[in-house]
Amino acid sequence: MTKENLLRALPSVDRLLAEPQLKEITDKIARSYVVEAIREVLNDIRRHIREGETLPEEDLSPERIAQEVRHRIEALASTSIRRAVNATGIVLHTGLGRAVLPEAALKRLAEVASGHCNLEIDLKTGSRGKRSEHYQKLLTKLTGAESALAVNNNAAAVFLALNTIAHGREVIVSRGELVEIGGSFRMPSIMASAGVRLIDVGTTNRTYVSDYENAITEETALILKVHTSNFSIIGFTQSPTIGELVELGKRKGIPVMEDIGSGALVDMSCFGLRSEPMVQESIRAGADIVTFSGDKLLGGPQAGLIVGRKDLVEAMAQNPLSRVLRIDKLTIAALEATLKLYFDPDSVIHNVPTIRYIGRPLREITRLANKLRARLKTCLGNKAQIEIISGFSDVGVGSLPGQQLATKLVAISSKDLSPTELAKRFREADPPIFGRIEDNKFLLDVRTIENHEIATIANVASKILSD
Ligand SMILES: *Cc1c(COP(=O)(O)O)cnc(C)c1O
Repeated sequence: MTKENLLRALPSVDRLLAEPQLKEITDKIARSYVVEAIREVLNDIRRHIREGETLPEEDLSPERIAQEVRHRIEALASTSIRRAVNATGIVLHTGLGRAVLPEAALKRLAEVASGHCNLEIDLKTGSRGKRSEHYQKLLTKLTGAESALAVNNNAAAVFLALNTIAHGREVIVSRGELVEIGGSFRMPSIMASAGVRLIDVGTTNRTYVSDYENAITEETALILKVHTSNFSIIGFTQSPTIGELVELGKRKGIPVMEDIGSGALVDMSCFGLRSEPMVQESIRAGADIVTFSGDKLLGGPQAGLIVGRKDLVEAMAQNPLSRVLRIDKLTIAALEATLKLYFDPDSVIHNVPTIRYIGRPLREITRLANKLRARLKTCLGNKAQIEIISGFSDVGVGSLPGQQLATKLVAISSKDLSPTELAKRFREADPPIFGRIEDNKFLLDVRTIENHEIATIANVASKILSD
């Protein structure tokens, strides 16, 4: 057929709308949307023909074209951000959305989002209130600080604090603490963006109080301590405690800030882990400002929490940047609910998923692993080999680096699919399931999965391995 004949032979829009598979769709979504998709596909085909591409004739049948239209519509209609199963064994995984919110936070979030709310209205007076009032008292009570402010994330918290306290002036930091946390958070870059001059003191492995003291000038606005959360230097090391820096700051009249990052409010050593610096300890030691994330060890929504001296926090709230970095009503609802759980420290382990996953007893993990293995064996038969092996989980996002939690892993191996191919198929499934590959085995770490997800994993596995 000539180009002209091919073009003329293309089905019309109406003809395509009458195709059963598109008729079915027009019952569910707007007809104009389907018409637009049809025009788009027809235009693409016309272009291919004009450019002289040879298309098999059956590709131009109404049925085939309708099929292509349907695929395009379905691809657009499918949701992009979706619930996933985290069987990586990394409790706080930035790529997988960090902390799973507590049930109480989900409830409050849905309730607040489903209608209007008193975000910035003082119910007593009816006049304009502050959004910070919903969580301020909770944070000050839990940490012992005078005042508190929440912003978008901890990077924003550090940025706002530096910009408010030290803009155009000098901030002293140890060379060993000029950390990078994830690709885009590098302490020196944040300091430069915040408009402060970085004065680094000491060496990579050893810094003394005297190094800070010798660097103090008229221009010094702040002494900063950064928790080196995602690595540890071991061996010949030395760095002053926050208490020692506070003593120096008091003597010289310079505020001291600690960026704690992971921000534990409960003592991690009760899970057999080396203890993480706790926010309330830093405040007790006299830090003027402490910053930490809402979605790391606190186990709440993404936020950056700033606690400390009232005059400094107030100055930050007055900084126009606080408006740029402020959190929304959904985050406030989830944050308030999460913080409330910490008033009953004994129940935190049950009610805050992040803490529950970290503290999950090995016998519970073993029970889950056995259950998953049994389910997989039942639905996969001899299509795959399933075994349980011992291994370790990670807390993730730089919290508790180098410390591993003993766990059980369910290994799936198949004669036909490589571990990489298995991982890819699980990842591309609905819902996406994330495991990890170790020693050339595809592994599912059950530490961070829920009981009801076992059936989901088994369903996906039987689809993947029966194809
Ligand atoms: C994680 C972390 C940050 C960045 O916090 P986000 O909430 O990811 O913005 C900054 N400082 C330290 C020490 C951290 O551990």
